[in-house]
Amino acid sequence: MVRAVNSVELKGIGMTSQRTRERLIQRLVEQGIASTEVLDVIRSTPRHLFLDEAMAHRAYEDVALPIGFQQTLSQPYIVARMTELLLAAGPRQRVLEIGTGSGYQTAVLAQLVGEVYSVERIRPLQQKARQRLRQLKLRNVHMHHADGGMGWEERGPFDGILATAAPERIPEDLLQQLAPEGRLVIPVGHRTQHLQVVTRTHEGFETEIVEAVHFVPLRPGTVR
Ligand code: SAH
Repeated sequence: MVRAVNSVELKGIGMTSQRTRERLIQRLVEQGIASTEVLDVIRSTPRHLFLDEAMAHRAYEDVALPIGFQQTLSQPYIVARMTELLLAAGPRQRVLEIGTGSGYQTAVLAQLVGEVYSVERIRPLQQKARQRLRQLKLRNVHMHHADGGMGWEERGPFDGILATAAPERIPEDLLQQLAPEGRLVIPVGHRTQHLQVVTRTHEGFETEIVEAVHFVPLRPGTVR
């Protein structure tokens, strides 16, 4: 009896979220996300699993949501946009992510690139993210508890780097860990931030400024 009620309720939730997810994808398309591979991955990745229960019902709204420790799970539009920019010049094999946070962006990346190397400075967030990625059986993710402003030199160079926290200026270490033709997608700035794409070329680095964004700051040091 109880079981029957539960399963009916679960079904209801499942169907609602399917429709809600489709609405989210529609919104992303309207905002200019054009990559079908990115849209497909966002459609099939359960964002609600990356939130605490109290927030899970808002998982398919196009908003950033709190994940504790004064940090946020990025807005789906931003996740889609940054992923699309990272992949815009061709597939990536080794991608460094700075700021694992909930692990949602990590999960999206893991389905689209060869290997993801993800650095997070707050240990409890990293541990939760690790469990979720394991639950989703995403095994090409490698995690590191450290200050990602220094990159992850032992695992570099990377043909893609994506930062989900904003430094005031791009750390030199990140540029140095970019492989030739590698792309860095990063929010930069203090009060006003802009999303930037830096490509390593034969001559040096080429920077493209994409759009204004709001990210939590990249902070030094680690939290246990
Ligand atoms: N991509 C995450 C966004 C989390 S917010 C998500 O979708 O959930 C940014 C994250 O960057 C936070 O978890 C924060 O702790 C982390 N962060 C900030 N500065 C950092 C640093 N120097 N090194 C590693 N992670 C950092």
